[in-house]
Amino acid sequence: MKLSSIDVRVEEVDENLFRMVIPQPFYEPNNIYLVADDLPMIIDTGYIGSFGYLVSGLKHLGYSLNKIEYALITHNHVDHISGSLLFSVYAKKIKKLGHYGLKKQSDYLIYFHSWIQENERLIDLAFNEEETRQKFKQIIRNRWHTFLQQFDKPVPKKGDRYIDLFRGLKDSDTFSTGKYEWEILETPGHNQWHITPVENKKKWIFTGDLIIGNIPAIYSHSEGSVCDYIDSIGRLRDFKEYQFFPGHGEKMENPERKIKILLKSLSIMEKNLEKRIRDRQVDALELTKEMLGSAAQNEDSLLLGIALTESVLRKLLKEKKIDSTMYYNGYEVFHA
Ligand SMILES: [Zn+2]
Repeated sequence: MKLSSIDVRVEEVDENLFRMVIPQPFYEPNNIYLVADDLPMIIDTGYIGSFGYLVSGLKHLGYSLNKIEYALITHNHVDHISGSLLFSVYAKKIKKLGHYGLKKQSDYLIYFHSWIQENERLIDLAFNEEETRQKFKQIIRNRWHTFLQQFDKPVPKKGDRYIDLFRGLKDSDTFSTGKYEWEILETPGHNQWHITPVENKKKWIFTGDLIIGNIPAIYSHSEGSVCDYIDSIGRLRDFKEYQFFPGHGEKMENPERKIKILLKSLSIMEKNLEKRIRDRQVDALELTKEMLGSAAQNEDSLLLGIALTESVLRKLLKEKKIDSTMYYNGYEVFHA
């Protein structure tokens, strides 16, 4: 496989820190950062089908996979971790670092099937009509088919379904790559295995998918609650004067303001939902459509919207501000 002949956008974002912009089929391109220290480290690994871009980006920077010591994985979403599932073929020496919970969740295909199931649960929650449900579920299955195929190919292209972390990291853990000392924050909310690495001398913080775009990045209630999300992005406010490097997009301008806006929009959403449920019975689909308006025009954004709506509804339920009735088929109606 000619991995190194692909054109990749690469830039120096600070001294000894480089960003490689790696395309992927589901969302905006991923950032993979290279920390050019004594023990070189990459932060995140991109999508498995985009592995060639990573190899090519490294080559552009004068590195090869076998010069990389560590790959730190911010969380186990497919566009951040699945590139590392090819390490057992192309980069046996790279040591993977990630949330300690991923040691128990090492079989990625098991995790992935539970992710698909979770999406199907969201569909059941929001839609009552069987035909619509089946249609929507089929779209989801087709969407992930290409990814799952990566594991059916014959060796040596075959992805390794096991994550096999070298070290599981928890809050306040530290490690060194030579000149730089790393500290780990556990930051659940977007995903329960999300970590945020910080370098305090350089004042670097790598925020993965905690803050991407202007909508709270909560994808499913089983992966992270809105309460965790509020706590996690709240913690990031302590890092004044730090440079914020996200998992997608450019270095963050004015992160403090961005966090403030996100927290504010979550609290508005909470009040809004509570008000909308006060005098009627309503399901998550209708509430999502009302909240998102034209932003919920395709299946993907609608499903993300339902996940966010559900997460806020669960918070309101927990605080006993609203009530709900769940039907035998998983469909749920919310009321006062
Ligand atoms: Zn993610």
